[in-house]
Amino acid sequence: MNLPKPFLETLSSKIGIKEVIAFKEQLEKSVPVSVRFNPQKGYQKTTTNSVPWCPLGQYLEERPSFTLDPSFHAGKYYVQEASSMFLWHILESLPVNKNQIKILDLCAAPGGKSTLISAWLNGKGLLCANEVIKNRAYTLKYNISKEGHHNVVVTHNDPKDFTILDQFFDVILVDAPCSGEGMFRKDPASMSEWSVDNVGLCCSRQKRILADVIPALKNNGYLIYSTCTYNDDENIKNIEWVKENYNLQSIRIPINPEWNIIEEHQSDVFGYQFYPHKIQGEGFFLSVVQKDNASTSALKLKYDHKTLKKTENIHKSLITPWIDIDEQVTLIDKNQTIHAIPENMQHDVYILHHYLRIINCGVDVGSLNKTILIPNHGLALAIQKNPNIPAIHLGKNDALKYLKKELELVDSDQKSWNLVCYNGLGIGWLKNLGNRINNYLPSEYRILMKID
Ligand code: SAM
Repeated sequence: MNLPKPFLETLSSKIGIKEVIAFKEQLEKSVPVSVRFNPQKGYQKTTTNSVPWCPLGQYLEERPSFTLDPSFHAGKYYVQEASSMFLWHILESLPVNKNQIKILDLCAAPGGKSTLISAWLNGKGLLCANEVIKNRAYTLKYNISKEGHHNVVVTHNDPKDFTILDQFFDVILVDAPCSGEGMFRKDPASMSEWSVDNVGLCCSRQKRILADVIPALKNNGYLIYSTCTYNDDENIKNIEWVKENYNLQSIRIPINPEWNIIEEHQSDVFGYQFYPHKIQGEGFFLSVVQKDNASTSALKLKYDHKTLKKTENIHKSLITPWIDIDEQVTLIDKNQTIHAIPENMQHDVYILHHYLRIINCGVDVGSLNKTILIPNHGLALAIQKNPNIPAIHLGKNDALKYLKKELELVDSDQKSWNLVCYNGLGIGWLKNLGNRINNYLPSEYRILMKID
């Protein structure tokens, strides 16, 4: 692999020439493949090949065609690079109360860390998953819906739009856009984009993003900062800058020495660096800081309960056959589209709705059309569906045909709306008309690949 010379020089000055030789040798080897299972969609823990810092993570021996596995489309697992799953260990290490917690994932697309946070929250608290680039925000929305929880709001905003949300979040993750040195093996194109100037540009952009979002962190709240690069300027030095300018204290995270993660320590700041020749994964950096308690009390935030409002009771009987509503779930609607969100987070969702551009809110249940509910794709993937919804179970070939939008008929007398299932998990909706079906899989999610 033809690594950029200035990159190698900087890396040698950081870890020494001997380590760089081992690093280069490792980069010639194949990229480890790993997935993180969705604990709500039938995960059976194995003892071998597990990712050491995340109980839901597992290495695979080779890379299968995930597109040709209907379980992938059902959200049974997320294909995630193993080092990134370290976030699980971080969340487990922080003394926070999941029931009330509000987490922001500021740079969230395509959704690897947001889906991990969603799995960790397991329906408790609230996650706001944000992405500034529009088409990436819609990919994020889809991946979040596959995880299936009702406590995630997806937004499409610039980091500066969060500044006004004074002390709103308990935890903020900034998985910053970076020079991507840690991805050189997985994505060789990132090497051609790398330059010393680009590292400098990334560094300034990272500081700007951090400065924009720090006001939205609560007193005593935690900021988790990560990149997939090795460069100190983009990593630990940015955290030193945060510490000096915003008075946030670095938090040391206990790690198992057998994991071989390198703990960095510079002027009271700790960071955790992953190297591919030390661990089974790609390059990654993470650091945690905590806001102090001395700042002013939070500003009173506005909220919007007019355009997003609680669904009227008369409509509930149309919706309950589709989704389990208990005391923890509430229904809200926006222009007759129904969303299920956590009851205890309703006011916070109204606040987010006032200040941000929400592109999805909780489970996207469906639209009310006079006396019927037309289910949305998000409901097919949701965990909280009513278990009595009529369902048609397809084998692998028919499930793939359905996902290609090429299935014409089903062998079932169950007419009208049916949940389409593969191995017990929802993958979409169809309407059975007897002599043909209407396939309600959104076209943008269909498999385009040729299947033999
Ligand atoms: N957290 C994601 C995951 O685990 O799947 C990966 C995030 S990636 C490292 C960084 C993200 O930041 C990208 O989705 C990118 O579109 C977004 N981004 C790019 N420029 C940005 C900016 N100026 N402000 C905020 N986010 C930005």
